[in-house]
Amino acid sequence: MTKKLAVITGASSGIGEATAKRFSKEGHPVLMLARRLEKMESFNLPNSMSRKVDVTDRDSLVKAVKEAEDKFGPTDMLFNNAGIARLADIGNQNPSEWDEMININTNGVMNALYAVMDGMKSRKGGTIVNMSSIAGRKVYPDHTVYCGTKYFVHAISESIRSYLAPYDVRVVVISPGIIETEVLSGVLDKNTLKNYQDNKKRIGGGISADYVADMIYFAYNMPQNVLIQEMCVTPTRQEF
Ligand code: NDP
Repeated sequence: MTKKLAVITGASSGIGEATAKRFSKEGHPVLMLARRLEKMESFNLPNSMSRKVDVTDRDSLVKAVKEAEDKFGPTDMLFNNAGIARLADIGNQNPSEWDEMININTNGVMNALYAVMDGMKSRKGGTIVNMSSIAGRKVYPDHTVYCGTKYFVHAISESIRSYLAPYDVRVVVISPGIIETEVLSGVLDKNTLKNYQDNKKRIGGGISADYVADMIYFAYNMPQNVLIQEMCVTPTRQEF
């Protein structure tokens, strides 16, 4: 059977990269979206399209999805993953960092939803996996706005899940703990970064993004009438 199109935002590194590779390995055509085009192209995935898209730019996101759908057929899976974590002491943080996180982690998520939702509704099928975090389930010092954006992802996911249920469209939320990716490159506050890294070291490090990709593929691969609503994954020793 011909496999259907998977669209992945934030596919140029980390969890998005691992998931794009996983879906590709399973035979799906894949649309990869992020700002670092050359990285996505360097993966050389068969049946794939890479587009330089900033998820805050709704028009270019919609255009890229349309282009991929014209080539590969309708989107059956959206991994709404692009995000940044500018963790910092809130009292000393430049508010421009709040804007960046809010724009990418909330508006970016809505833009990607917008690009696929109508099509999935009209076809009565599809799966949307929204990337939250353990920071979307509990709050941490130095995570203030990041937590806010991830709680946002939980809130809209619950609402959209009920809205899309009658159309047989599944909405999954995944909430990882510490995963080994480039995410810490977004942390500019030296103290916060040090505390995070010390904690990470203390628990023996983060886990591989490949496990998150496996979980997403598992949830996607269940029959369409089976919805794994939420998934939370952490290193075993991550007690915080
Ligand atoms: P990475 O930094 O490795 O990946 C982030 C991805 O998002 C990159 O591909 C980046 O691509 C993309 N991205 C960032 N901003 C934009 C933008 N404006 N437009 C398009 N793409 C963008 O980190 P992770 O893989 O860890 O992060 C993926 C998601 O997982 C994020 O939402 C993060 O919050 C979440 N998460 C991560 C955890 C972890 O411990 N690693 C834990 C819990 C959640 P580019 O820079 O090329 O645009």
